[in-house]
Amino acid sequence: MNTASQNRLNRVHPELARRVTLLIQALANKGYTIEVVQGLRTFAEQDELFKQGRSKPGQIVTRARGGQSNHNYGLAVDLCPFVNGKPQWNDNPGFIRIGVEAARLGLEWGGSWKKFIDKPHVQMPGPTVAQCLGYYNHGGLDKVWAKVPPIV
Ligand SMILES: [Zn+2]
Repeated sequence: MNTASQNRLNRVHPELARRVTLLIQALANKGYTIEVVQGLRTFAEQDELFKQGRSKPGQIVTRARGGQSNHNYGLAVDLCPFVNGKPQWNDNPGFIRIGVEAARLGLEWGGSWKKFIDKPHVQMPGPTVAQCLGYYNHGGLDKVWAKVPPIV
């Protein structure tokens, strides 16, 4: 794991960070390098990302506006296979390996979603984004994190 990945993990829910570290180590033991390319995103950063492919150039990469993504609450990360320090966005088997490890660790993988397949995305199970927003408005990120049940 590189420094940028570690820095991103330092800002998400500690249990998510712990599980993602285990995921990355498990795949490293098999010879695969996985990095964390996205972690916590502020509401403003989420709104900017939402514009991509709509009012700004590029491909649509999210359905969520500020406050509507698990990333806004430090409950999601995006992972990507890396080779020689470069992200391998088309490495389909690599993303499937991430999905298998995520499931094994009790995490949800966006690659298994039906409506908006999001292969890099891995998140904590638990409160919906609507619930998160309610908690957030009454105590910030700490309140959200306190509501996330431990994974067994
Ligand atoms: Zn994501």
